[in-house]
Amino acid sequence: MKKAVYYGIRHVRVEEVEEPKPGPKEVKIRVKYCGICGSDLHEYLHGLFPQSPFGHEACGEIVEVGPEVKGYQVGNPVIAFANGAYAEYLVCPEERILKIPPNMSWERAAVVEPLAGAAYAIEHGAIQPGDTVLIAGAGPVGLMLLLGLKAIGVKTVYMTDLLKNRRKKAEELGATLAFNPLENKTPAKIKELTSGRGVDAAIEAVGIEATLKDCLTSVRHRGKVIVQGIFTDRVPIHMLGFVTRETTMMGMNSANPPLAMEWIESRGIKPESIITRIIPLEQISTEGFEVLTGKNQEDIKILVTP
Ligand SMILES: [Zn+2]
Repeated sequence: MKKAVYYGIRHVRVEEVEEPKPGPKEVKIRVKYCGICGSDLHEYLHGLFPQSPFGHEACGEIVEVGPEVKGYQVGNPVIAFANGAYAEYLVCPEERILKIPPNMSWERAAVVEPLAGAAYAIEHGAIQPGDTVLIAGAGPVGLMLLLGLKAIGVKTVYMTDLLKNRRKKAEELGATLAFNPLENKTPAKIKELTSGRGVDAAIEAVGIEATLKDCLTSVRHRGKVIVQGIFTDRVPIHMLGFVTRETTMMGMNSANPPLAMEWIESRGIKPESIITRIIPLEQISTEGFEVLTGKNQEDIKILVTP
């Protein structure tokens, strides 16, 4: 079968490898789509993480079940929360898959995983419907957070992004206002928008110093900053401001798939609206990683299909 093999920074090759066999409590899935995640781009540019999640936003159909598998059968359409999914087939532990409900499209199923990350952050961060929220970054992570905030009834969500197409998408999906932080300094703009008070919560969804600082300086006194972006570099923080404003800062790196499913089914949100392109596995480097790590890209979420 074909699989994208990671060789090093900016070096991923699609090769012919042996098909994996499911062991006890594992299933084998024929991959329909695997979404390119920000963490994959990070690994593409900077090297693999210790427990690499390279290619983990997968969905497909079960083609074989291993011994002792209880809840699944051949033919079940599932979402798989497992690594190594840039391939024709994937073996995944039973406990890391989720059945796709009838009537859910493959495209929607493919973006349940990123939505589940947002679901976790919003729930664990205890954001309330009455909160005013800033999301710094309108890439896939930021847009999923926006959909989640809308799902729980948050009315006012401000977003920032350097790219016009992402700001446009944010406003299409319900952001109160999306602005360019280079044209309008974020803390000043947020002050103006909140009558000097600051937002109740700010969510960092990029992973760089500028957006983290924008979040820390845009929340109100005793506000909270939720950090979901993946950082490569260390960031110096103005601790005096952090202390005197009594800010709470929380890191988020887990997922809540059942809550994401509930939002899709009962709140009518459409996470597939962030998908901008579907590309064949063979073109994962040229049309996927290189495009998404380039400047001014038009794409937001790219799915890979083997
Ligand atoms: Zn992901």
